[in-house]
Amino acid sequence: MSNADNASKSMTDIMALCKRRGFIFQASEIYGGVNGFWDYGPQGAQLKKNLRDAWWNDCVTNPPIGPDGDEVSIVGLDSCIIQNPKVWEASGHVGGFNDPMVDCKESKRRYRADHIMCICEDGDQEGLIFAYLEGDDESLAQARKKLDKNKKRKIEDDKLCTCAFLELSAEEWAITVGPDVKDPGSLTEPRAFNLMFKTYLGATATEDDIAYLRPETAQGIFINYKNVLDSTRVKVPFGIAQTGKAFRNEVTPRNFTFRSREFEQMEIEFFCHPEESRKWYEFWRDWRMSWWESLGLAGDNLLLREHDKDELAHYAKTGAGTSDIEYRFPFTAPGFGELEGVADRSNYDLKQHAEHGNTKLEYFDQERNERYLPNVIEPSAGLDRGVLSLLCEAYTPDPERPSKVYMKFNPRIAPTKAAVFPLVKKDGMPEIGKKLQTQLRKRFGAVDFDPKQSIGKRYARMDEVGCPYCFTIDGDTLTDQTVTVRDRDTLSQERIGIDKVEGFLAEKLSAE
Ligand code: ATP
Repeated sequence: MSNADNASKSMTDIMALCKRRGFIFQASEIYGGVNGFWDYGPQGAQLKKNLRDAWWNDCVTNPPIGPDGDEVSIVGLDSCIIQNPKVWEASGHVGGFNDPMVDCKESKRRYRADHIMCICEDGDQEGLIFAYLEGDDESLAQARKKLDKNKKRKIEDDKLCTCAFLELSAEEWAITVGPDVKDPGSLTEPRAFNLMFKTYLGATATEDDIAYLRPETAQGIFINYKNVLDSTRVKVPFGIAQTGKAFRNEVTPRNFTFRSREFEQMEIEFFCHPEESRKWYEFWRDWRMSWWESLGLAGDNLLLREHDKDELAHYAKTGAGTSDIEYRFPFTAPGFGELEGVADRSNYDLKQHAEHGNTKLEYFDQERNERYLPNVIEPSAGLDRGVLSLLCEAYTPDPERPSKVYMKFNPRIAPTKAAVFPLVKKDGMPEIGKKLQTQLRKRFGAVDFDPKQSIGKRYARMDEVGCPYCFTIDGDTLTDQTVTVRDRDTLSQERIGIDKVEGFLAEKLSAE
């Protein structure tokens, strides 16, 4: 089976391996679990850290070369999960706290579900359904046009009906289209309540003490934008990067960690001159796509889906756009699920915070001798979804092996880089092995040492955690100072000098 064949991989089998080998456990398992929450075991925590570190390294510490031929300027941030609740009023997250809301995934606009209506071909709602804002004749006319165009024929008035979005079924939601966009499927199902987790600050727990767990890391960046400008020497164009937990009280958490209530994001807010939006948008979209490819998500399983920019009314001015980097998970196959969104957010967020916070957030550009609110390009990735895609991609059934399956991780993100096995627990082999492990882990991090069980079982265990190389100390090592190297993917075994192991591993790990 090729790795691209995700449709035939079983999520039940992948989840069983994750539990068996310590990647991911159900949170609070001994109490029956808690829906939408997952804990990472020893292998999973390391895998997640490796992915987070790779992102931080490639975005912040060693940033890519930008469209102008210079290194992109990016600085890091670590803001709080809890902020002043006014942050979430300004960002639009608190509006209509108890009302069902729908989000347009393309235009990023949010509507109250009872404020928008749908239009469909006939009374039983079987036709394509489009959205318009209630009481707005112009958007009704636009919805009509979309419906006519999509059906490639005129719909007679008496065939049309309108109904409240709240009455739609899940299938019908899947074919609705937001008022500002063209393609169906842009609206989320109504969420019956605000997705933010609420808590209280201090002991009295009155309405005045309400605070929220952040639903995205992005806002922490916007509210610190001025602090960063004032405390560093960055100049527009530049970005601020942050990784961290986000919380959403999802109505229907599902598909393993794909839709969780507690998850981690890796977000960049990149500030640029409004006229340069398109250039930076295209740069980030393409670079982020190639970054995921570089970690091994390639070929048929990865898709860059550009949203139609002509339809994005409020982006039209700048000419920028929105796209999703999507992965074909076994549970979405043959379709795809979002891994990362890259969007031009215009200057919307800075404008909101300038207004609500009564602060000046304009940037004075010395080179242009111009004062302006920068536009923002946002590449926003999910760390947990990233880990899940790496797990699904790596999962490779192989009936010929004792383990019947192995995890073909790219060595850069593999949680265990190497393993050292003394063949038997005698003749000084464990001591030689332990010494080798100590030497290797200093340089490469997670290197396993396992002196017990049959060698076959030890190899099988390493295949299931996706360890790329195993080094075995045996009787010959005692006489000629060589060890056996076993390659996870080819299963080939060769002998090399024990003093060559470090160099061998350095070369192999950096080559991939
Ligand atoms: P979706 O449409 O799947 O709900 P979204 O468009 O709301 O996602 P964003 O708000 O753009 O997601 O968040 C950016 C990234 O955060 C997503 O691409 C995804 O990787 C991750 N993410 C969002 N919600 C969740 C969740 N409930 N569980 C895990 N990851 C999530």
